[in-house]
Amino acid sequence: MSRDQPSHRAAPGGLAVAAAWVLAAALSAAGIGRYLNEVFTGIAPSERHVGLALVAAAALVASLALTVAWARRRPMPEASGRRRFLTGLGAALGGLATGGLAAFAPARGWMGTTAPALLPETPRTDPSPRSEWAGARIRSYRRLGRTGFEVSDISLGSAHIRGAAGERIAREAIERGVNYFDTAPDYADAGSEQALGRAMKGRRERMFVATKFCRPDGHLQAGADVRQYVEVVEASLRRLQTEYVDLVHVHACDTVERLLDPNLHEAFERLKEQGKARFLGFSSHTPNLETVANAAIDDGRFDVMMLAYHHGAWPHLGEIIARAHRRDVGVVAMKTLKGAKHEGLLERRPDGDSYAQAAFKWVLGNPDVSCLVISFFEPQHLDEYLYASGKRPSPGDLALLECYDQRIAQLYCRPHCGECLDSCPAGVPIADVLRHRMYLEDYGSPDVARRGYARLGEAAASCASCSGPCTSACPFGLPVRERMVGAHALLARS
Ligand code: SF4
Ligand code: SF4
Repeated sequence: MSRDQPSHRAAPGGLAVAAAWVLAAALSAAGIGRYLNEVFTGIAPSERHVGLALVAAAALVASLALTVAWARRRPMPEASGRRRFLTGLGAALGGLATGGLAAFAPARGWMGTTAPALLPETPRTDPSPRSEWAGARIRSYRRLGRTGFEVSDISLGSAHIRGAAGERIAREAIERGVNYFDTAPDYADAGSEQALGRAMKGRRERMFVATKFCRPDGHLQAGADVRQYVEVVEASLRRLQTEYVDLVHVHACDTVERLLDPNLHEAFERLKEQGKARFLGFSSHTPNLETVANAAIDDGRFDVMMLAYHHGAWPHLGEIIARAHRRDVGVVAMKTLKGAKHEGLLERRPDGDSYAQAAFKWVLGNPDVSCLVISFFEPQHLDEYLYASGKRPSPGDLALLECYDQRIAQLYCRPHCGECLDSCPAGVPIADVLRHRMYLEDYGSPDVARRGYARLGEAAASCASCSGPCTSACPFGLPVRERMVGAHALLARS
């Protein structure tokens, strides 16, 4: 038998091969997709579901083998070896592409929306601080819903706090009237909780401390043991050197399943009975933020919610916050600087307040917001940020925010969007590439940006030779192709 002649041994039919790829794609979505989602959402490695992902990988390999067998043995009287090879290659690539898309589909929204919000905001301080900002203190306290605690309207987010320097900033914040600390085990590899614990010594009673159900290496999965939930909070208590925390959040909650996990609620009740935790909350900045927030309000067991909230975005959040307020749920705002693209705005109003101050005043202009948390990690943050305490946005502030929105209109890839993704024939993760450009240009994190872009396989390398159908697909008018070509030039290591 020549090489080009089909074998007459039993060969899989085309339908069987197609069915195998369909099954592999479904398993990819359920197994690999679920696993990737867990990686992206920060679930601790030991908590991730590996089994079904391995089954899905095996199914993809088996489908590939079936495809090769089908192509080699397919009756094709006039077929040349080359034609058989191309048929098999096309079928195999098509199947693998389908399986790959299915694997990434469950995480797509998350990658575009939550991941950008997870990188702690690292806005640069204003380059021309005004002398009257020096020594600014908290001027206003607001009731945190049914907790009844009066919290400082501007409070300490501690993702960057660590070591002696972080401890000094935290202690100075307390001295200036900040009485709400937001921390988590996975902030600064648990260094945040340790630094705050040292800073609070002798001052614990005047503080309201929020941490998360989480370990230093990531979040707990829905369905984790009650014992695990209890243990992570007890570990936080040791690092914070305190007998109790005021609030425990379900951290970066993306699903109602995690929010309402019976084991989590049982663990919280035990911690509460033992006097180790007083109130329950959740934080969210995901595509499912509105669903999760509404479910928490309806559930009735959540005392506080911490939500991404800033000027001009998340249009329905105002209604959700009002509903939470009516149910006496405390509302904490985070991610208040809308991408932190404000560098250079000061030159437009040299005698006015800074962009950060205007953005904070806008958030606090909503009386249903109890407080906002923002990362302080430089001494100037204390002066600049606390100067906005107790103030309402002026017409000049609103003009500055409008100016900001106009300035970023052609630059800001909306984290909750993803409208253009289907337009790209190469399947480039456009929002992710532009997010890494933002890390470099706006957050001042070139290493994070370039490492992340490398992990994306330098995905925008092909944009320079593309006609750019993505540009017309963006409803916000971003010159997407141009931004992508620029992103590659800025981020590529090769
Ligand atoms: S320019 Fe880049 S992102 Fe846009 S369609 Fe082409 S390959 Fe895709
Ligand atoms: S459509 Fe525009 S804003 Fe939306 S993800 Fe694409 S580039 Fe970003």
